[in-house]
Amino acid sequence: MATALSLAPSSADPTFAELLAARPSLSMHAHDGLLFEDVPLARVAAEHGTPTWVYSAGTLRRRFRALRAALDGAGLRAGIHYAAKANDSQAVLRVLRGEGAGADIVSAGELRATMAAGIPAAETVFSGVGKTADEIRFALGHGIYQLNAESAEEIAMISAAAVALGVRAPVSLRVNPDVDARTHAKITTGKADNKFGIPFEDAAALYAHMAALPGIRPIGIATHIGSQITDGMSAFRAAYARLAELVGALREQGLPVERIDCGGGLGIPYRDEPAPTPEALAGAIKATLGHLGLPVMLEPGRWLVGPAGVLLASVVLQKQGAARRFLVLDAAMNDLIRPAMYEAWHGILPVSPVAHVAPLSPADVVGPVCESGDTFAKGRALPILSPGECVAFLDAGAYGAVMSSTYNARPLAAEVMVDGHRCAVIRPRQTHEDLLAHQRLPEWLTA
Ligand SMILES: *Cc1c(COP(=O)(O)O)cnc(C)c1O
Repeated sequence: MATALSLAPSSADPTFAELLAARPSLSMHAHDGLLFEDVPLARVAAEHGTPTWVYSAGTLRRRFRALRAALDGAGLRAGIHYAAKANDSQAVLRVLRGEGAGADIVSAGELRATMAAGIPAAETVFSGVGKTADEIRFALGHGIYQLNAESAEEIAMISAAAVALGVRAPVSLRVNPDVDARTHAKITTGKADNKFGIPFEDAAALYAHMAALPGIRPIGIATHIGSQITDGMSAFRAAYARLAELVGALREQGLPVERIDCGGGLGIPYRDEPAPTPEALAGAIKATLGHLGLPVMLEPGRWLVGPAGVLLASVVLQKQGAARRFLVLDAAMNDLIRPAMYEAWHGILPVSPVAHVAPLSPADVVGPVCESGDTFAKGRALPILSPGECVAFLDAGAYGAVMSSTYNARPLAAEVMVDGHRCAVIRPRQTHEDLLAHQRLPEWLTA
C-alpha cells in the first residue's frame, strides 16, 4: 500500500536535534522539557489535557514579517491575503490582522470568520470553484475586494447578482496555467485536468466578455497552482510567465488590468524538504511579472501558519504486536488527517527531557480510531514511552484543526495559543454533551 511506503522511515529521517535546530520557536529545556516559545508543553498538557492544538503567536508574527520584508525587499507592491482555510481560528486571524494581513476566503462561513476577526471584506479575496449565488450576494453586500472567477458560468452568476444589487463586482479571472507544481496529487491545482481555473487559451476572450457585462468590473488575473510546493521556483516561474503573457495580450486589446494575484502554495519543510524562501518567491515574482509595473497579491496559507502550530498528544499505551511496536496515542486521524489523506510526514518529538536522551527503537505511531489508516508514522525512531507521556506533532498549524472531524464520536480537541510566557485557551475542548446537543429525533421515534 502506498501509504505504508511513504510513511515509512528512511535514513533521511531527521534526528530530534535536527528537528529542533530547524524550528526556532521550539527548544528543549533540561528541566521543563519541550518549550513552544517560553511555554513548557508539559504544562499545557497538564492544564488543558490532550489532544490539544497549540499555536505560537510569536511564530505567526515572525513569519508574516519575514514574508513582508522579502516582498518589500524585492521592490514589489504586494498585498498579503492570508488563506484562512489553512487555520480559521479567531485568535490566529487576529494575530495576522495585527500584522496587516488581508484574507483569502473560499466560503461565506470563512468571510464571516475573517470579518469577525477584524479583517474587512474590502481587503478580502473570494476564491473557489463553486461559490453559490447566496455566497456571491453576501460577499458583494459586504463590499468584497475581489472575486476570483473560475468559469464562464460563474461570471454570469456574479454579473446577475451584482446587477440585482446595483453594484459592479470586482472580478479577477483565475487562470489555469497548465503547469505541474510537482506536489502531492491531492493538492495540485494548476494542471489542465484539475477542476480549478479557466483554461489558459480561453482566458483572453473571457476577460473581454467580462468587460462587456453590466455587473462586472474586470480587475485582473489570478492563479494558484497548488499547495506545499517545495520543488524550487520553476513551477511558480512558469505559471507567472504565462500570466505575464496574458496581461500583454489583454493590454493589446485595450483591456484594463489593475493587479495580479499570484495565489499561495509556498511549501514548508516537514521532514527535510528543501525550504523555499519567501525571498526566492519574491524574486520569481519580480523576474516574471515585475516589468508589468502592476501591484501583486499573494494568498499564503500553509507557509504562514504551518510551523506556528503543534498537536500535543499523550501515550495511551504501548502495544507489542507480532512484528512491530505500536505507540497508541490519544490523538487520531480525526484530529490530524494529513498523514492519512496526503501521506504526510510530521516530526514527532517527546515532550519530556528524559525521553530526548533515551535509546531509540522503531515504533508505529497510531491513534485509537477503527481504521488502519489511523497511522501517523511507521517505524519511527522513538524511545519507550509510558502511558501519559506526551509527544508533539510538529508543523501542525496548517490544515490541522480545520480538517478535524468527530469520527468515532471523538470530541474536537482543545486549541491553545502561546505568546511569550502567556498561554490561553482559544477554543475549549468539545464535550460529549456538545456532540449530542445538535441532534434531533424525528417525532415518530420518540412516541
Ligand atoms: C488553499 C489556497 C491557498 C493557500 O494555499 P497554501 O498552500 O496554504 O499557501 C491560496 N489560494 C487559493 C485559491 C487556495 O485555494
